[in-house]
Amino acid sequence: MKLCIFDLDGTLIDSLYDLANAVNYALECIGLETHPYEAYKQFIGNGVDVLIEKALGEKQEYKEEAKSLFFEYYNEHCFDKTVVYDGIYKMLEDLKQQGYLLAVATNKPHDLATRIVNHLFSNTFMAVYGSSKEYPRKPNSYMIDTIRKKASCKHGEVVYVGDSDVDMLTSFYGCVYGIGVTWGFRSQAELLKAGAREVICHPSQMVELVNQLETPTKAVSACLAGHCCRYDGKDNGLEDIEEDLKKNRLLCICPEVLGGLPIPRISCEIQGDKVINQLGVDKTYEFIQGAKKCFEIIQENAINEVLLKSKSPSCGKDIVYDGTFGKKLIKGHGITTKYLMERGIIVVNKN
Ligand code: SF4
Repeated sequence: MKLCIFDLDGTLIDSLYDLANAVNYALECIGLETHPYEAYKQFIGNGVDVLIEKALGEKQEYKEEAKSLFFEYYNEHCFDKTVVYDGIYKMLEDLKQQGYLLAVATNKPHDLATRIVNHLFSNTFMAVYGSSKEYPRKPNSYMIDTIRKKASCKHGEVVYVGDSDVDMLTSFYGCVYGIGVTWGFRSQAELLKAGAREVICHPSQMVELVNQLETPTKAVSACLAGHCCRYDGKDNGLEDIEEDLKKNRLLCICPEVLGGLPIPRISCEIQGDKVINQLGVDKTYEFIQGAKKCFEIIQENAINEVLLKSKSPSCGKDIVYDGTFGKKLIKGHGITTKYLMERGIIVVNKN
């Protein structure tokens, strides 16, 4: 492991009160009801737009006005009550001393994020990215991809640390190891459900955890690793690979998501040389893109063996569904399986 990327709000800093006060100020100015601090724990994590949307509830017509009032207040008061969580400075110092590169990727607007980080953590991070037109909000993984490349790290050498389901989804989309922290705004159960590979409850646990992580030698279908990335938004989690996942011995990949398909999505099957979804729409391009992306990631991480989910139109080996959506199986490989095998990668199917 070489690079630790951190979320900001709820992970490094407790900004709940200043964020809540700024939104409540906006609501009060407009003449709407304010919310208690506790409610904001569920509102924060997806950037300012979503924070305002959640606080407005059914009154979305006030969004632009509320946003402008929010910034008017927050720009002046973002350090009033905001504090760095206990143990964070020591954790960052210890990680640095052990040679890890450190960075921040947050859904806070970029200029605010850099201002806050420079004020509270000068000369600590090699890169700080907040959301902007150029850098879309998490769970889009563009920010962590950019930092990873800037640090010349492979996917398997990166952890992303955050306190929310959005952060864990970001690590899934970026194919990096996601660590959930419970001192922020969400519970351990929520973080695990969202795909955290490990969850810690105090910063003092971080160094030991990161130190024991290995470099992945195999890749695995993300749905087998417990990520809810199947067409129906469910997973195919396997208990017998849990320990390998925790130790970072397996790199999680989902070809269909890497190919740009959403979760959930209409199920697809192979029909001849095409992949068609149940509504008859041709998704061959996305499936091929996903296969290519998987191969790139696998190559970059010097992996030569993958454990893939059986029967899938992407990951299946030897047998796949026959294209009639009638649960009938025929001989054949999924698109990614075929692409990888043709390039010398060993594919093992798992149920
Ligand atoms: Fe993704 Fe493959 Fe699992 Fe389908 S079978 S959800 S493509 S990892």
